[in-house]
Amino acid sequence: MPINWPNQVAFITGGARGLGRATALRLAGHGVAVAVNYSASAAAAEALAAEIVKAGGKAVAVQADVADGKAMEVAARKAEAALGPITILVNNAGIAWPATIESWEPEGYARLHAVNVVGVINGVRAVAAGMKARGYGRIVNISSVASFGTCGFPGNHFYAGSKAEVNTLTKRFALELSPHGITVNAVAPGFVRTDMTELGKTPEEWKALHDGFVAVAMTGRVGEPDDIANAVTFFAAPDSSWVTAQVLAVDGGRKDFIAHG
Ligand code: NAP
Repeated sequence: MPINWPNQVAFITGGARGLGRATALRLAGHGVAVAVNYSASAAAAEALAAEIVKAGGKAVAVQADVADGKAMEVAARKAEAALGPITILVNNAGIAWPATIESWEPEGYARLHAVNVVGVINGVRAVAAGMKARGYGRIVNISSVASFGTCGFPGNHFYAGSKAEVNTLTKRFALELSPHGITVNAVAPGFVRTDMTELGKTPEEWKALHDGFVAVAMTGRVGEPDDIANAVTFFAAPDSSWVTAQVLAVDGGRKDFIAHG
């Protein structure tokens, strides 16, 4: 894999924090210009873009709620005006929604679906025409091992369902876009230390959760954001032109769902 990928521009949704941030830094390390999308974390997005520029790279921060198709279109065109045509899209933005059968309610569910599923559709719609016209693109969607059904937090059924939809859309979009030189793949992370998994928990709750996931990982540890950025980088690489429609679990070898296929 070449260290510098020439003429590459990545648009990373939710790029200011967690897995998106690690991916932005990793791609910038390959010489990729990065549009750091954010919805609320303006300061973190600006700081990350400044960090990349300071290190000799190219980056801008672009605001858009991924659930808003028009805003995503505007953000993508803004990123292209600053950095050039988008060649890599990482649909990373996502939210968790710990609802059970009993606590399910329509507004929370609609927001979960709007961000985790419609957000992916909006991202693809904002870049597909340009990628098609140029005959080149790399799209990487961030799913979750929860999408496989029988693992993850108890009570995250609807989050798991949203990510299962991401897996299916990944394969369907690959079917449509791969003949145009655009690969579409997904990375399904296991349990990774980020705000999503850490915030709102006491140190004792975090430790119990952490130790539980360590116990079911063949590698004996939970993931770090760089573990996921590494897999995204593989799919995003110019050399990965014969890999499409794949969903790759990156979970340290989880043992608690394999038997269920
Ligand atoms: P995180 O630390 O909570 O960060 C979430 C990111 O998504 C933030 O950058 C946030 O940006 C962005 N975001 C949320 N809603 C958005 C919206 N409507 N529009 C634009 N951006 C939005 O979470 P993370 O752990 O890095 O998760 C990243 C992805 O990995 C998600 O899709 C998540 O479901 C998936 N995942 C995570 C894990 C894990 O263990 N951490 C496991 C499996 C899958 P703002 O702050 O600007 O809103």
